[in-house]
Amino acid sequence: MIVGVPKESFPGERRVALVPAVLPALAKGGVEVFIEAGAGALAGYPDRAYAEKGARIASSRGQVFAEADAVFQVLCYGANDKTGRADLPLLRRDQVLIGFLRPLGAPETVKEIAATGAIAFAVELMPRITRAQSMDALSAMSTVAGYKAVLLAATTLPRMFPMLMTAAGTVTAARVFVVGAGVTGLQAIAHARKLGAVVSGYDVRPAAREEMLSLGARIVELPLETGEDAGPGGYARAQDESFYRRQRELMARVVAETDVVITTAIVPGRKAPVLITAAMVAGMAPGSVIVDLAAERGGNCELTRPNETIVAHGVTIIGPVNLAGTVPYHASQMYARNVTTFFLHLLKNGQVELNLDDEITRETLLTRGGEVVHPRVLEALAPAPAAR
Ligand code: NAD
Repeated sequence: MIVGVPKESFPGERRVALVPAVLPALAKGGVEVFIEAGAGALAGYPDRAYAEKGARIASSRGQVFAEADAVFQVLCYGANDKTGRADLPLLRRDQVLIGFLRPLGAPETVKEIAATGAIAFAVELMPRITRAQSMDALSAMSTVAGYKAVLLAATTLPRMFPMLMTAAGTVTAARVFVVGAGVTGLQAIAHARKLGAVVSGYDVRPAAREEMLSLGARIVELPLETGEDAGPGGYARAQDESFYRRQRELMARVVAETDVVITTAIVPGRKAPVLITAAMVAGMAPGSVIVDLAAERGGNCELTRPNETIVAHGVTIIGPVNLAGTVPYHASQMYARNVTTFFLHLLKNGQVELNLDDEITRETLLTRGGEVVHPRVLEALAPAPAAR
């Protein structure tokens, strides 16, 4: 079984799908690694580090695809909407492809991948079950993003985060408000606290309260009826527009008293809810910072521009779209562990087994035998019913 790792081709992407440290575990499972020269260089993993762990180095991308039984990427075609298409002619029937594919955001691309005959697995569809935690690349990348968001905020804010009592006077602590306390938000809370900020948090899921409290955040109480439970997979349920309007009204005062707002509020399969309006931004003190981690999904702040930093009403609004990619060494290390564990889980007697009784396999499998097989992707591809 040969696993091929091409260099990531999305412009500016510095991560790599495998790191040398996971190679022994793959070798133990009978897997040989064939990696494109320089694939790990921008993440801090030189070719010789892979070679020392037994990998063979390929001189070209084409060679990797030609020899590999399975190809591991971070951003496959679909997730890579800039250069990913060029990989289509390199894929072949029954070749396994594993990575981020954005199957629900870009279902048409899944159809194109299916047409190559490849067997594609989307890591972002990993089920939220205990057994799959070590394969959950979305959570791993969210962990990195939450950390980096705090650093971005701290270096942009014209104030310090910690309270300091010095001979030159007292410096008050920065006030950080984290909206949405999933994996990303909880990391943001933890790191903002480590830097000494006074941190508060809000999430629509009542279950998030305890987690925020345990990290030292104050809970922002909003008298909103959110319903008791989260939706499937522990995700938030979508609320109606009147709920979001009320939430904005109630949050306006908290936002106005905050130096940094980090927003991470997402509802799966939908555009991110707008929780911070332009008027709320105008109500913040000049120099304040908003880091909108929902930028890629439309943004939690009305003024966010994905992949841009803008200043409005004296407030800096940062809309990063690939924060995990800006910490490529550890993001790659975590991702490599995720895909390795996942791949070894798929293997039986040295071959990939498509056991659809297994939830992990079933939920992540997108294409096989030339067809799209994932029910949610098929649903997304179905033509909308004709308007009457
Ligand atoms: P996510 O990225 O889908 O959303 C981020 C957060 O935004 C969520 O906590 C959500 O409740 C919150 N949110 C949505 N709308 C909001 C609004 N209007 N106002 C405020 N907050 C809003 O979330 P996630 O990081 O995927 O985590 C969701 C849950 O799943 C968490 O409880 C997490 O611990 C859990 N989880 C479990 C596993 C596992 O068991 N394997 C893996 C990952 C996450």
